[in-house]
Amino acid sequence: MKAISALQIREAFVLGKVSAQEITEYFLKRIQKHGKKLGAFLEIFEEKALAKAKELDIKRGKKQPLGKLAAIPIAVKDNIHIQGERTSCASKFLANYIAPFSSTAVRLLAEEDAIFIAKTNMDEFAMGSSTETSAFFPCRNPWNLNCSPGGSSGGSAAAVAARLVPIALGSDTGGSVRQPAAFCGIVGFKPTYGRVSRYGLVAFGSSFDQIGPLTTNTMDTALIMEILGHPCQKDATSIDLIPESYHLREDCKGLTIGVPWNFLKELQTEVAQNFQTAIEQLKSLGATIIDIDLDFLKYGIATYYILSTAEASTNLARFDGIRYGIRYRDSKTLEDVYDLSREEGFGKEVKKRIMLGTYVLSSGFKDAYYKKAQKVRTLILKNYEQAFEKCDLIAMPTASTSAFALSSIQDPLQMYLQDIFTVTANLAGLPAISLPSGFDKDNKPLALQLIGPQMHDVNVVQYAHAYEKAAGFSNHISPFFNNE
Ligand code: GLN
Repeated sequence: MKAISALQIREAFVLGKVSAQEITEYFLKRIQKHGKKLGAFLEIFEEKALAKAKELDIKRGKKQPLGKLAAIPIAVKDNIHIQGERTSCASKFLANYIAPFSSTAVRLLAEEDAIFIAKTNMDEFAMGSSTETSAFFPCRNPWNLNCSPGGSSGGSAAAVAARLVPIALGSDTGGSVRQPAAFCGIVGFKPTYGRVSRYGLVAFGSSFDQIGPLTTNTMDTALIMEILGHPCQKDATSIDLIPESYHLREDCKGLTIGVPWNFLKELQTEVAQNFQTAIEQLKSLGATIIDIDLDFLKYGIATYYILSTAEASTNLARFDGIRYGIRYRDSKTLEDVYDLSREEGFGKEVKKRIMLGTYVLSSGFKDAYYKKAQKVRTLILKNYEQAFEKCDLIAMPTASTSAFALSSIQDPLQMYLQDIFTVTANLAGLPAISLPSGFDKDNKPLALQLIGPQMHDVNVVQYAHAYEKAAGFSNHISPFFNNE
């Protein structure tokens, strides 16, 4: 079962070849066997998942209509609410916080009969690129257990890559779906800003955050996006458009792909060679490749870390020790409640970002940092718009390296540079996908990223499918997890 897509799992269930209970037991067994050594999960819903499976078997027995995700086990990043379950954001602050309602994303999947099987590990409050800032334990990369799975949706990516679940949800503020997908050799998609409701996703940078799927292949990306891409009245930034259907393509005829060669000139040799091979593959599928100027992208990291920390500092102000999560027990004054709860509840990276965000928003520095960064954000958006006058999609690598060893990046700036190829899609609200494109000499996955204009989510996924089929890397499973 681990070698087939979520779509095929559903088909097998609907056709009566396998029961929902068998599917769920199969994945639960894999989770029990491999979950601990990976550190991918924060919670496993064994009983509830089996109860849902039983319900679906009865439904099928009675020939009642089955949802589009019937009997597909799904794991959810721990910053997305499932009613009645803990949403910890991998933070000590929320270690006792139970979600009072379900996110729209979870509700939509539940309405299509998905089986929620687990919550996944992540960087604390989604701040990080390695899943090492989790307050509980780090997560490991299925291709090399000494390496990071990337972050912040590292638990979701590792779980799918090790085939412990067929699909997982992640969130992408600056690359947190795509970079872990790249490191783990799977598919990760960040939709156009506003395509997927943020209702019930714990906010990090509200003008950047998007929920996105991590899957083993683009057909499953399409399956899940048809369901997630719904307008939602509970999210004021949700796009008010009818859901689209994701017809896939097997060639790139008539497609023009722009490559910002100048921006990519310092790529590491192996990454550059791999990218070149992917470009040749796209050419052989019929795409025309052109050179585009995206030089403003060099300001992406600085702009993103000013604006996202500014938004994070205000979003996280709600964690005051009173309304959510932990409260420092020995507080004597109200100030103590705020200060000591935050001192105790937040990890180092989160504190750093709150301080940075508060600084760039402070009255003396707002013009120099926050306002200036807003202007550069507009320039980046315009730079992309100009590029999309000449091409349909843009290609670049997802990450500048393959997965790095755990604890190997200590310099925060180096960690922030991890996001160099991903953050600008968030700054400009663009849909972007990461696809497996091969392996480096140590057998660690490398990835290709395709970025589209706003609202062109379907084009991104449909041509990604053409590449995936031709390149053939999506069905590779790490040798450490390719047993039952
Ligand atoms: N790595 C980036 C950061 O640390 C992106 C995180 C994300 O997308 N949630 O902010």
